[in-house]
Amino acid sequence: MTRATKIVATLGPASNTPEMLERLIRAGVDVVRLNFSHGKAQDHIDRATMVREAARRVGKEVAIMADLQGPKIRVGKFAEGKVMLENGAPFVLDAERTEPGDVNAVGLDYKELPRDVKPGDTLLLNDGLLVLTVDAVRGAAVHTTVKMGGELSNNKGINKQGGGLTAPALTGKDMEDIKTAMSFQCEYLAVSFPKNATDMELARQLANVAGEPYRHKAALIAKIERSEAIPQLEAILKASDGIMVARGDLAVEVGNAAVPALQKRMIKMAADMDKLTITATQMMESMIVNPVPTRAEVSDVANAVLDGTDAVMLSAETAAGKFPVETVEQMAAIALEAERAEYVSIETDFADRRFARIDQSIAMGALFTAHHLGCKAILALTESGSTALWMSRHRIKVPIFALTTQPISQRKMALYRNVYPLLMPKFEDRDTALLAAEKLLVDRGVLMPGDTYAITCGEPMGYPGGTNMLKVCRVG
Ligand code: PGA
Ligand code: MN
Repeated sequence: MTRATKIVATLGPASNTPEMLERLIRAGVDVVRLNFSHGKAQDHIDRATMVREAARRVGKEVAIMADLQGPKIRVGKFAEGKVMLENGAPFVLDAERTEPGDVNAVGLDYKELPRDVKPGDTLLLNDGLLVLTVDAVRGAAVHTTVKMGGELSNNKGINKQGGGLTAPALTGKDMEDIKTAMSFQCEYLAVSFPKNATDMELARQLANVAGEPYRHKAALIAKIERSEAIPQLEAILKASDGIMVARGDLAVEVGNAAVPALQKRMIKMAADMDKLTITATQMMESMIVNPVPTRAEVSDVANAVLDGTDAVMLSAETAAGKFPVETVEQMAAIALEAERAEYVSIETDFADRRFARIDQSIAMGALFTAHHLGCKAILALTESGSTALWMSRHRIKVPIFALTTQPISQRKMALYRNVYPLLMPKFEDRDTALLAAEKLLVDRGVLMPGDTYAITCGEPMGYPGGTNMLKVCRVG
């Protein structure tokens, strides 16, 4: 059986070698995430080359997702590297402080903070492990009381409960990093902390300009991790190719308890709008140090699959964990088992929807037909991958094999749920192409004599958006 849900793995010290990458890809990684919060431009370029080479050795296409750092909303450094904050103690966050911090005060990487907060606000530091309440703002100094103390070390992140920090989503560093990411033609570009559609539109413009010399266009993923983004979800989705349910920062801003329901809403809304979703952060967290996940983690991954996410993501588990390969293997096994238990009924998906485009209607027709006939597979001859994207927005047990002549489309489709992208040579003649497609799947052991399958293509061949034909065939 083939696994429909895809796995995104973050590279880091635990996985930065050709051997480890190869093992991770064999274990089931579909998309590799390069985290631009760490490392220099050349490191990412080298890693991208390493990913492409490892994928070639394994014989499986994987996509690269460049994840921009976004605004650094952080405290500065401490003289001793860290301090211990006691409950009830006063603590000052001072944007003008230049000397290293101590137990009374610390400087700020994020200089705008004093303008963004007012007395009564709650600030969460280090992913919400420390809580400060704002008493007063005097000039550049934010005076607070420690509500929940603990250890605070250099450059830890700051979130404001309920949102409201004005930092722009794209920094100067991000703009440089976009150029780097386009130079190795990342399939996906993830934007951190977007507040609205405008942030995504700006990122897209920058990416398209930076991609021009390479004739490359990346798909854009909006990381939903600010509370301001929630009311803007629909507009953000429209401006993006997909979203990441970035539960780490999101939970701090909206409160832990709100996240599971938001995850479900985001995944559903994205699928309805023909967009992609990646569910991220702490999915297999305990496997950073343990060889097996907790029961709760197993359920979390399975539930994200049942929510309909395209992909589940690993962060520190593969970047810095002790068991990167085992984590991927276990995640793959959990996803597969959850998919087997999944109930599908595509009729309800069509109840209130109209499909006005020819290519989209054909795609839906193929889905419907293959589901009802119990076809072994759907074969979609697609240039850009849009036919496969539409099909994959609906849950169906029939696997979708997307056959394209474009390597870039093939790699992009590595993220699509239930889509298995394959490369195929260009044919001018339709019947030759259809036969070649069937042979490809027979040679791969997917189709056998007697199997039925549904196949879609466009005539004339080779133009994106031209899908206008559906045929149901039996392997002779
Ligand atoms: P990050 O984003 O890992 O880059 O912080 C994901 C998240 O916030 O969940
Ligand atoms: Mn984040």
